[in-house]
Amino acid sequence: MRDIRLDEGAAALLQRLHAAGYQAFVVGGCVRDSLLGLCPQDWDLCTSALPGQIMELFGAENCIPTGLQHGTVTIKQGGRLYETTTFRTEGSYTDGRHPDRVQFVPKVEEDLARRDLTINAIAYNRQRGLVDPFGGQEDLAHRIIRAVGDPATRFEEDALRILRLYRFGARFGFAIEEKTDAAAKALCSRLDCVSVERIQEELAKLLVAPQPGGYLVPEVMAAILPELSGQALAKAAPVVDACPSGKAALPVRLAALLESLGEEGVRRTLRRLRCSNACVEQTAVLVRENREFARWGTLAAPEQKLWLRKLLGRQDLETVEGLAALCAAKEPENQPRYRQLLQTARAVEEAGLCCRIAQLAVNGRDLMAAGIPAGPALRSTLERLLEQVIREQLPNEKEPLLAAAVQSAAT
Ligand code: ATP
Ligand code: MG
Repeated sequence: MRDIRLDEGAAALLQRLHAAGYQAFVVGGCVRDSLLGLCPQDWDLCTSALPGQIMELFGAENCIPTGLQHGTVTIKQGGRLYETTTFRTEGSYTDGRHPDRVQFVPKVEEDLARRDLTINAIAYNRQRGLVDPFGGQEDLAHRIIRAVGDPATRFEEDALRILRLYRFGARFGFAIEEKTDAAAKALCSRLDCVSVERIQEELAKLLVAPQPGGYLVPEVMAAILPELSGQALAKAAPVVDACPSGKAALPVRLAALLESLGEEGVRRTLRRLRCSNACVEQTAVLVRENREFARWGTLAAPEQKLWLRKLLGRQDLETVEGLAALCAAKEPENQPRYRQLLQTARAVEEAGLCCRIAQLAVNGRDLMAAGIPAGPALRSTLERLLEQVIREQLPNEKEPLLAAAVQSAAT
């Protein structure tokens, strides 16, 4: 296992807290990630200093009172932010976000005991080295996720931990310890106490993990996504795994997971989960268009070209990329075909080829000026011109397009 290489700002803060006579450690995700050889995103600290004492030591102008009643002060240091929390124990989290009451305590071990998972309950400083009372290092080495203490008690205190359990499992590809897993499954009806925003956030983090399929536990999914049947989940899980991972792929993975609900069902479900409008729209479009997209392979070559241009007329390249990823995940045997389709789409975009009426060298006003009456006929004339341009029967130039429009209106 790797050493902890403290980030400069965190080292400076620990140093100042120690010099002032307080205990202080880096803790949680940054220690876990360091031990895994990953680069920590942010460095969180815990300390025996009370919030008021932290603010006094660093000066109010360098502190953000993030959650004073829960003991959290964010300290600005060297252009970065460090969440610093007083050692504490806590009661239950009615809102799934903050404990109802906290009690400040003098020892780091007591603070570690309130944390969710053994791999998240390790603290470090240079004086004491790693403080790891729950065997977090051993679980990291064996690639196991385990609750701190009695899992049932911990999930009863805060059901959000059930989702965090599978989320961290998926993120690192770790096994879930048996008793922890059993308690999580037995208690997942408690997830109804957790706010929908928190559920959405955890589900999103779970879904963008490298291979989340095995962590989409039916009991848990039924609690947070009652819309989705167990059968549909079983079918979707391997497709989710086959989609690209990472934050940007969230709509593709949501579409893979929820496709059985249909476009309207997907919208309703994602709105219920308070997903962003952009996420709802992107996912819904993928669900709506992917069947049509899969039809491409069955078309003859000239039709394929028209079809692709019309698709690019309706959707941007990013959506087309998402569609290709989703279809390739659903039909692994057709992956080369979707790769080729995507290449063609990128080439069309790059060449700036005409894909939609707005890109024609004539518009409705030009046609009306040439004597074609406004109304549905105008629209269908423009559509016919677009098709002829895509089929290269007409150049995308004003004069020939106008002439063709006038002639077709006359016949
Ligand atoms: P990430 O890299 O995803 O931020 P993290 O471990 O820093 O991982 P956070 O959600 O930022 O996770 O939480 C910071 C720490 O606080 C965790 O490592 C864990 O020790 C503790 N923690 C967070 N949420 C809970 C919870 N619901 N119950 C108990 N402990 C928690
Ligand atoms: Mg964090």
